[in-house]
Amino acid sequence: MRYAPPKGTYDILPSAPGRDAVQDSSNWQWLESHFRELCRLYAFSEVRTPIFEAHELIHRSVGEGTDIVAKETFDFVTKGGDHLTLRPEGTAGVMRAFVTNRLYVERPTSKLFYIGPNFRYERPQKGRYRQHHQAGAELLGAAGPEADAEIIALACAFYARLGLTDLTVKLNTVGTPESRAAYVEALRAWAEPLLPQMSADNRRRYEENALRMLDSKEPQDIALLGSAPALRDYLDAPSQEHFAQVKHYLTALGLAYDEDPRLVRGFDYYTHTVFEIQSSVLGDKALGGGGRYNGLIEAVGGPATPGIGFGLGLERVLLALEELKTLEAPAPTLGAFLCPLGDAARARCVELLAELRRAGIAADMDYTERRMKVMLEQADQNRARFAVILGDDELAKGVATVRDMQTKAQESIALDLLAERLA
Ligand code: AMP
Repeated sequence: MRYAPPKGTYDILPSAPGRDAVQDSSNWQWLESHFRELCRLYAFSEVRTPIFEAHELIHRSVGEGTDIVAKETFDFVTKGGDHLTLRPEGTAGVMRAFVTNRLYVERPTSKLFYIGPNFRYERPQKGRYRQHHQAGAELLGAAGPEADAEIIALACAFYARLGLTDLTVKLNTVGTPESRAAYVEALRAWAEPLLPQMSADNRRRYEENALRMLDSKEPQDIALLGSAPALRDYLDAPSQEHFAQVKHYLTALGLAYDEDPRLVRGFDYYTHTVFEIQSSVLGDKALGGGGRYNGLIEAVGGPATPGIGFGLGLERVLLALEELKTLEAPAPTLGAFLCPLGDAARARCVELLAELRRAGIAADMDYTERRMKVMLEQADQNRARFAVILGDDELAKGVATVRDMQTKAQESIALDLLAERLA
């Protein structure tokens, strides 16, 4: 019996030539360390929440009429009868944690970040998986447009740090729940006579969650949507002012954006600012996106607290960098690879390894009594700077033969001095 990874998932493996970018663990370490370092600079602290949450939390906060909840969640019932859902995105769980742990008392303004897997039952294809990873940030307790700018700036800084430059930030506002309700009414009135010409999905959305009709990627819907009423005509004055301020700050920070009046994004919880970041090489698959969600914390049982955040798909970053041929993740390297010949040398190598590591030198050895040629190949494969060759002759003299793997030059070094010299 041979098992494959479940559909829409993949394994992340040690770096090797020709490995797909998303399967190379050194790429992940590189991405994640850049995100962590940036979050430190921007004063965001890490949170880690469970990968499953109460079914109701996910379904209610993401929204019953959304595609994610309607079609894509992994829902299950435990042996104890609890209804749970694998998280399809990061925000709902972070909001739940903010409320359960009363972070609003400890840190009324909370700047939180997370990195982790999400699960969506989607049709797998390149850049779309059933388990994907996101890096996300949430700024809670600040309603002003400075917070919107901070969040968008952090997302842009992450991409810039990785060398992803061909980006567009799409920006829109969906206003307050009240102005949106007025808009949705107008949208439904507009759509009703056109329903026979719309896709089945949009007819369902019309019934369940009409705003989502704007999300449609079907050509027949897109053509019709050209004549739909515009959300911005229904915004109240404070919403318009908030949006103007956000744009002002982005410009002040030197961040370019494109206004997209049809951008509503796939979640129900958004209010005011929504944004999405696209790369020219990924087509209509977004790199990441986010928005403000001023009612969400209250909806999950906390005190009314404004919030804004983003989730950035990490597989897509790697795919875009691979496509642009600018992926620069450093592959792991070793300082020394020890090549023992014989049992006595192998025993000495166990001690030498410990000495080298105490001196801060990344080191490994051959464990399997291979031939010298094969051990040197292994040293190369591990990108070792030096191979340390130890046979009976060397042992008798208390030295090792140290081979520079690049120049191939060899030198005899006393074993007592090895760590010091290699360091
Ligand atoms: P969303 O939470 O839907 O706004 O998605 C945020 C980002 O996560 C997207 O822009 C993608 O980069 C990424 N993403 C979402 N769903 C998937 C998926 N099924 N496979 C890979 N990446 C995804």
